[in-house]
Amino acid sequence: MLFSVLTIFPDFFHSPLREGIVRRAQQDGRIEIGIHDIRDYAVDRHRMTDDRPFGGGEGMVMKPEPLAACVRAAVRPDRAGRVILLSPKGERFTQARAERLAGYGQLVLICGRYEGVDERFRDRYVEEELSIGDYVLTGGELAALVVIDAVCRLLPGVLGCGDSAANDSFSRGLLKHAQYTRPRVFEGMEAPEVLLSGDHAAIDRYRLVESVRLTLERRPELLALARFSPAEEKILRREGLYGQIEALTRRGSIDAD
Ligand code: SAM
Repeated sequence: MLFSVLTIFPDFFHSPLREGIVRRAQQDGRIEIGIHDIRDYAVDRHRMTDDRPFGGGEGMVMKPEPLAACVRAAVRPDRAGRVILLSPKGERFTQARAERLAGYGQLVLICGRYEGVDERFRDRYVEEELSIGDYVLTGGELAALVVIDAVCRLLPGVLGCGDSAANDSFSRGLLKHAQYTRPRVFEGMEAPEVLLSGDHAAIDRYRLVESVRLTLERRPELLALARFSPAEEKILRREGLYGQIEALTRRGSIDAD
């Protein structure tokens, strides 16, 4: 996977991309990250990438020509790619979207600044507009890092085998169960006995139930995407949880994203 980031602040990316799993993925050749400075594609001698909005109003707007030239230089026709604008007006970036994007060969991530980009650039060059949440950032750089991080860890071989993404929160319409580690007793609080029992079937049952309880409590809308095997359904019925899930679905309180 090639991530191509278009930004007017290339230095922003140096440290975050040199740490942890994203760093290892680059070293192992599983991902490549190219940072493109939009200013290098500015057409005037002052390297202007923004200008005042037509019609007046506050702030500045990113000019279309440098953005267009930068996208044309970044797109690799030999890769099946996607040109993405980070924007608070975009569709919400979710785990399901991260999984879909992980199937492409290149993601071109355009970071806006100021009041955003000229609409004509968006109309002509942008294939997808993504928001990382209902708040406004000063620029798209943090959002691009979020997309790179979330997509990178889904690519084959990026996570170690003990670190699978398949059981993460959101991957099957559930939040992940709580985790515990040594010491067995911390400030008077004991880790759940069943997790120390060595009985793997009992541990799986406990984790499923905790996961469903947590999701019902915090994010019931996610359960629209959850599918349970007959054995899991039996466990959840016994715990009195399956009826709650069915009731939510029947009332239409759960909508699939
Ligand atoms: N005036 C714009 C509006 O109200 O929709 C906000 C522009 S914002 C200050 C500047 C840039 O930050 C945007 O062009 C976008 O690239 C990025 N940005 C801000 N919030 C974002 C979010 N929630 N998700 C993704 N990108 C965001």
